[in-house]
Amino acid sequence: SNLLSLQNIWVEYGDKVVLERVNLDIATGSFVSIVGPSGAGKSTLLRVILGQEAPTRGQIWLDGAPLPPECGPDRGVVFQRYSVFPHLTVLGNMLFGLECAQSPFLSRLLGAHRRTAIAEAEAMLDAVGLGDSRDIYPAQMSGGMQQRLAIAQALIKRPRILLLDEPFGALDPGIRADMHGLITRLWRDYALTIIMVTHDIKEAFSLGTRVLTIDKRRRDPHAPHRYGATAV
Ligand code: ADP
Ligand code: ADP
Repeated sequence: SNLLSLQNIWVEYGDKVVLERVNLDIATGSFVSIVGPSGAGKSTLLRVILGQEAPTRGQIWLDGAPLPPECGPDRGVVFQRYSVFPHLTVLGNMLFGLECAQSPFLSRLLGAHRRTAIAEAEAMLDAVGLGDSRDIYPAQMSGGMQQRLAIAQALIKRPRILLLDEPFGALDPGIRADMHGLITRLWRDYALTIIMVTHDIKEAFSLGTRVLTIDKRRRDPHAPHRYGATAV
């Protein structure tokens, strides 16, 4: 069944069309890779699904209901870098992630049950292989460890949808292979639906159950700044 359904999505900035008539159904439990050239609108598409950006036209459905406009605890996101806070420890980053979820349940968890929140955070750190790192700072960690933390931070809200924007793009190939194993395991263990933007075609096909290409398509040769992107 479809978890997400994008219907006739347009995103325009002035007269520049970035997403044009995107129709996309995403099945529960799928791992969707999105590839395409820089500037094609991949990050814009993720922002729309996150609820950070309202489409100019079109509708998005989550479980058959209109997508809540703000980023709720049902969606987690990891970017290529700068996802973690340098002035907080690993555990501090995890608890901060909970506070940002703005869910009444999690607020209570933090207020009256701080110990429960810490236990949850520690369990999630164990799941990404950072069980021994809770008291250190990001500056003391490798890029791979920082991305593990970013993933744990996204997952502590227990989202059903995990959005990944070039999550492994800044990592060395060996580390990237470890991360592929990790994300596949988390996808299965937490029954996630994953949508990942990547420049790495091999990665897109080896991880994805489905690969989408999103491409710049010139709409009017006399107006080269005006193009649209379509997902297929
Ligand atoms: P990529 O996702 O390909 O790395 P960026 O996100 O850095 O690309 O942005 C690509 C282009 O989008 C840049 O030319 C940048 O100027 C433009 N851009 C991004 N955000 C905005 C914005 N808020 N307003 C205007 N232009 C933007
Ligand atoms: P990708 O992630 O595929 O590299 P983006 O979604 O970052 O592409 O950007 C798609 C296009 O939208 C780019 O041409 C970029 O310049 C433009 N763009 C993105 N955000 C803005 C914005 N806020 N204002 C104006 N143009 C933007």
